[in-house]
Amino acid sequence: MASERIRTSQIKLDRELCIGAGMCESVAPEAFVVDEDGLVEFGPGLAALGDEPLDDESYTAAAAAAAVCPAQAIIFNLKANA
Ligand code: SF4
Repeated sequence: MASERIRTSQIKLDRELCIGAGMCESVAPEAFVVDEDGLVEFGPGLAALGDEPLDDESYTAAAAAAAVCPAQAIIFNLKANA
């Protein structure tokens, strides 16, 4: 499965695009949170992984959050560090 190869370094959080809507945190609070500046940051689950490959649960959560982000601020770059 492709998710076995995805790492946090391959998920770019574009804080310039982020509008702080919080949809990502709502659907995947372990993956993403809105920080004190009102912008997206990695949540405790993804942060704890470091650059280890995402397990299926983390991948599913991250993908769900990216899908609902109204600003396309969560970007999967599958070519990075492949
Ligand atoms: S859903 Fe998108 S715009 Fe909203 S806080 Fe998360 S990354 Fe930012």
